[in-house]
Amino acid sequence: MLNHPIPFLDLLSPHRELEEELVAASREVIRSAQFVGGPQVEGFEREFAEYCQTKYCVAVGNGTDAVRFALQAVGVTAGDAVITVPHTFIATVEGISQAGAETEFVDIDPDTFTMSPTCLASYLEACRTDPESGRPIGLRSGKPIKALVPVHLYGQIADMDVIGELARRYKLIVVEDSAQAHGAEYLSGGEQSIDGRPGWRRAGSIGHAAAFSFYPGKNLGACGEAGAITTNDENVAKFVRMIRDHGQAQKYYHEIEGYNGRLDALQAAFLRIKLRHLETWTEQRRTAARRYRELLSGLGAEIISLGSESTTHKPVYHLFVVRTKEREALGNHLRELGIQTGLHYPVPLHRQKCYLGWGYQEGSFPVTERVASEILSLPMFPELTAAQQQRVADAIEAFTRAAVR
Ligand SMILES: *Cc1c(COP(=O)(O)O)cnc(C)c1O
Repeated sequence: MLNHPIPFLDLLSPHRELEEELVAASREVIRSAQFVGGPQVEGFEREFAEYCQTKYCVAVGNGTDAVRFALQAVGVTAGDAVITVPHTFIATVEGISQAGAETEFVDIDPDTFTMSPTCLASYLEACRTDPESGRPIGLRSGKPIKALVPVHLYGQIADMDVIGELARRYKLIVVEDSAQAHGAEYLSGGEQSIDGRPGWRRAGSIGHAAAFSFYPGKNLGACGEAGAITTNDENVAKFVRMIRDHGQAQKYYHEIEGYNGRLDALQAAFLRIKLRHLETWTEQRRTAARRYRELLSGLGAEIISLGSESTTHKPVYHLFVVRTKEREALGNHLRELGIQTGLHYPVPLHRQKCYLGWGYQEGSFPVTERVASEILSLPMFPELTAAQQQRVADAIEAFTRAAVR
């Protein structure tokens, strides 16, 4: 068993464990013949809103739709610009484009890997003000900026107090991309935050609205595609309910042209079962992250592990990412020893072929670019054992020893 491969992500074990329950739930859905919307979806929406500590949750077909619908619901339309980071999964930006808006990038913070409040502040300071809306005009697009999308990457919430304060000062709406941060917590001071409420806040409850994905590999994953919007704003929830369902508030009466963006009952039923295990899975991830940090701490400054519990952050470790200048070599070394790794993400969005036309240059976002060339995601999932982590650490130690020599 010594050289049994260690997967990057183990989706088999939790489904083996929950198989009977999942099959029973799907039998129930089949017998009800309520396949799209209905009591399973409403039940999941209630339970997930409660989990996120928000008033509303509206379930949709996937996380990319969730980003787009959330932006549309807070009023983003064609002719607007939206700020986000280039170090994220492309769906964040697809959601912005598909809402009709232009993307403006700001760099990330080198310690948290989420939106840099310093870069955001200096970016906003450099913008002219649109005389009509009073909003800053995007430096790249020349369009008035309406919203900000901080991404809670790897399971860690962005610096929401400073971001919230800037958003208030510049009249911007905040939509959290919470696709990697189900249940992550952040201690808000209150005065600066968007709703002025102090205390520990869960991902999805801090901005005006938030987007979640339940893609199978996320911390809470469906057995297929699924997503959701959370918000405390009744109008946002109402709008998303309408736009996900062909723009109808009442059957065959279409207020706006919408989408087919609903969640199906099977996925909702699966998600309700899995949601009951999410707290346990998150604690297991936290334990695994602590073990990694202990095991890797002696390995010198060459290997830096990212994200940690602090007085203001309780991350949920969607990923456990380390940084090293010898990323390729370390990845290859681990692969040879049967240890799978991931890259999240190898090419920053402003350097992707599809966005080259936007005119950003290499060097536009130095932190993002450096990080993209140095990161490596180690195996991380709730069932990861101490023995498996010891093997990962031994492999990394052998690599660093060989590198030093
Ligand atoms: C997964 C993900 C999404 C999109 O989710 P899908 O359900 O795959 O459409 C959006 N943003 C981030 C940061 C993600 O990781």
